[in-house]
Amino acid sequence: MNLLLLQLYMAETSKQRIYDVLIAGAGPAGCTCALALKDAGLTVALLDSKAFPRDKVCGDAIPLRAIKTLSSIAPAFAAAFNAFEPKLTTRSTAIIYNGKQVTFDWVKDAYTCTRTEFDNFLFSQVKSHTGTDTYAPLVPEKYTQAPDGIYINTNEGTAIKTKMLIGADGAHSMVAKQLTNKTLDRNHHVGSVRAYYSNVEPVAGNTIEIWFNKQYMPGYFWIFPLAGNKANIGFGMLSADIARRKVNLKRTFYAFIDHLPELKKRFSGAVQISQLEGFGLPLGSKPEIISGAHFMLAGDAASLVDPITGEGIGNAMLSGKLAAEQVINCFRNSNFSVDTMKAYDNSLRAAIGKEMRTRYRAQQAVSKMPFLLDLIFLGCCNPFIKKLLQRAM
Ligand SMILES: Cc1cc2nc3c(=O)[nH]c(=O)nc-3n(C[C@H](O)[C@H](O)[C@H](O)COP(=O)(O)OP(=O)(O)OC[C@H]3O[C@@H](n4cnc5c(N)ncnc54)[C@H](O)[C@@H]3O)c2cc1C
Repeated sequence: MNLLLLQLYMAETSKQRIYDVLIAGAGPAGCTCALALKDAGLTVALLDSKAFPRDKVCGDAIPLRAIKTLSSIAPAFAAAFNAFEPKLTTRSTAIIYNGKQVTFDWVKDAYTCTRTEFDNFLFSQVKSHTGTDTYAPLVPEKYTQAPDGIYINTNEGTAIKTKMLIGADGAHSMVAKQLTNKTLDRNHHVGSVRAYYSNVEPVAGNTIEIWFNKQYMPGYFWIFPLAGNKANIGFGMLSADIARRKVNLKRTFYAFIDHLPELKKRFSGAVQISQLEGFGLPLGSKPEIISGAHFMLAGDAASLVDPITGEGIGNAMLSGKLAAEQVINCFRNSNFSVDTMKAYDNSLRAAIGKEMRTRYRAQQAVSKMPFLLDLIFLGCCNPFIKKLLQRAM
């Protein structure tokens, strides 16, 4: 439908909606953006293609940055998460390689929580503490840019017009594809699989486990404990390496469990309680177009996953908050131009640009020279080097 027809249709249809801000995608990025706009005095809609609660393939480790971001919007949101029972508090991370193990004990608490529960927690906070209109499920089909905003057609025949669109619709972002022509770059993308198990014999306490293997560097196999004697088990590696080395992710996942004697023993009484599902992680190791006239991308849609750890929830939430700040500036100055939106790119770069570059360099170094991992393990015997590494992580 061309723009003129769309505008006529909008004028005539009873299903038209007009919002100052439309957030597409109600994951961590989208919900955080809605939370950060709660006092902005703007009309805001949050839509998701799925009904909540919904699952999201993930490792379920909730990074500290996620909680810090919630707290910076309003301490009450972080307090609500602190009181949220389904989460598990984890205090250490064990890195296992070549039969050796190094354990880092964290000063601050970290958490795991299934994404079904965590994302539904965020979505509920939006519903109870903001005036946001929520539409879930509602599937957008076409985004059309116009001089006065962006028009969205949905599968239900609803037409929505917005002055500002936030594309927080995840790794396969339709907003990014339609408004920036984004394509997948395997050198900056991780392929991964994950399944839930119950009754996996734990190592010590509530420890996050990362298992490296020289063959699959810089990817890793993980065991992340969850509340209720469950665990999130997964494996991921760089998509370019998966293609180049013809790695079958699902077979490799089961090979870790079945062939490593330490794991085989610990999984002997375990039960797989979900399917093994795959999903991609768009890494923040390459500059992308993340804004344009009347729109911004946040979270996985903007490719912000940490190239070393694979964590993306914290950066998604931080970008959602920064996008909200930019929205407020745009409305204050009545300016939604491409140039104005660059302030968002700059604030995101200032917040995490250096970190992403350093981590990408580390990822590349370990990928090209796996023996570095031996050196790192050797270094970890020295408490000073271990402390330095702990700080860098
Ligand atoms: C296997 C795996 C393990 C991971 N482990 C971790 C981890 O342990 N810790 C961590 O911090 N990060 C982890 N990540 C990364 C993390 O999952 C993402 O970075 C994070 O979910 C990004 O949040 P988001 O809000 O940008 O996107 P999402 O969480 O993907 O949310 C996007 C939302 O948009 C909706 N949507 C999708 N398409 C459309 C559409 N066309 N229109 C409207 N809505 C749409 C989806 O239903 C979803 O609700 C992992 C990722 C994978 C794949």
